[in-house]
Amino acid sequence: LRSDWQTAVRTQFPLLTANPGVAYLDSAATSQKPQAVLDAVMAYLTSENANAARGTYPWANRTTARIEDARDRVRRFLGSPDNTGVHFVSGTTDGLRTVALDWLVPRLNDGDEIIVPFADHSANLVPWLDAAGQLRRQGAEVVVRPMPYDAAHDYDIARLPIGPRTRFIAATHVHHVYGNDMNVHRLRAAAGPDIPICLDAAQSFGHMPFSVADLDVDFVVFSGHKAMALPGVGAVWSADKRGPAFAPAGWSGSPNTAGIVSLAAAMDWLTSVGLHRISSYVVSLGRRLTAGLAGLRSYEVLGCQDSLAATSTVQPRHGIVTFRHRDIGSNDLGFILASDGLLVRADGHCQGSEGETTSSVRVSLQVYNTPEEVDRLLAVLTSLD
Ligand code: PMP
Repeated sequence: LRSDWQTAVRTQFPLLTANPGVAYLDSAATSQKPQAVLDAVMAYLTSENANAARGTYPWANRTTARIEDARDRVRRFLGSPDNTGVHFVSGTTDGLRTVALDWLVPRLNDGDEIIVPFADHSANLVPWLDAAGQLRRQGAEVVVRPMPYDAAHDYDIARLPIGPRTRFIAATHVHHVYGNDMNVHRLRAAAGPDIPICLDAAQSFGHMPFSVADLDVDFVVFSGHKAMALPGVGAVWSADKRGPAFAPAGWSGSPNTAGIVSLAAAMDWLTSVGLHRISSYVVSLGRRLTAGLAGLRSYEVLGCQDSLAATSTVQPRHGIVTFRHRDIGSNDLGFILASDGLLVRADGHCQGSEGETTSSVRVSLQVYNTPEEVDRLLAVLTSLD
């Protein structure tokens, strides 16, 4: 599994090289940062830091140019044409709220219907419920229909509650607990050409190659901090076909300039390593973990089983594996693992109201993780079996 390129990649993460005894297995919460991203931020802040779209002097102009350049890079990174919108936000939660309250609310009328996911991340549920609540206070009753799921936690497209009043669909690209690709490309075919689809790409942006042209969605929302950039920056990409979603240049308030610089550097870094290479490596690490867990009696792996992957539409996990121990509480298991330098996420994982709310342990892998780290984790889990 491990090869020279992966060793070279790992050495670019200063926090990891400074802590060789630590296995960071919580990248779905936030990723570690490569030196190239840290350098780009430091270079920007120490050479031309200024506010954007404000100034008449070189630092401000260069900052503005960097932000416009980052917008172009987001478009290219998402495989989108030039005349699409990129609106910088603080992250996925902020971006989904922006789509819900600034774009969707003014476009809905009494009796309209929206389809939203109730068992994905709550950041992709609460804003849509809030939008419906805001409309209700204005006297317009909007029907919120739950996205249907199948037994493998995939969207059940055959039961998609599309009707003549369906005006909007919110979906998740890769699930943050089960790690499965939700196969959102099937939504467009089921929805027809006219219903806007908004994609929560928090766990897919920068993790796997995809293009908006291919998925044919209207909004893609993501966080930089889960994809090698700093916390506090993300974006809403919007297709041009439904008119400008937000202020034309997106210059509302002072942008997170250093964060946007970090996002541009992160996309460069990810492109240089290669998204195909990153995702196939991470998927193979996840398989190593699920294969190891399959041999243990005390653990239940949540979500789609890998055995389904060969026979159904379920895709292999994208580096996220969530499980429970039969007798040991998940928080206790999290502490036990942490005392061995294995840093995982243990709790209810911010899942929406129809999720598996009892707590569990989530292991999420990134390109800097190694097979040895997975084996170390499996050794501790085996000792508790
Ligand atoms: N959606 C999904 C699928 C996520 O995994 C997360 C983060 N765990 C979010 C939304 C929220 O992202 P952020 O905290 O960066 O706003």
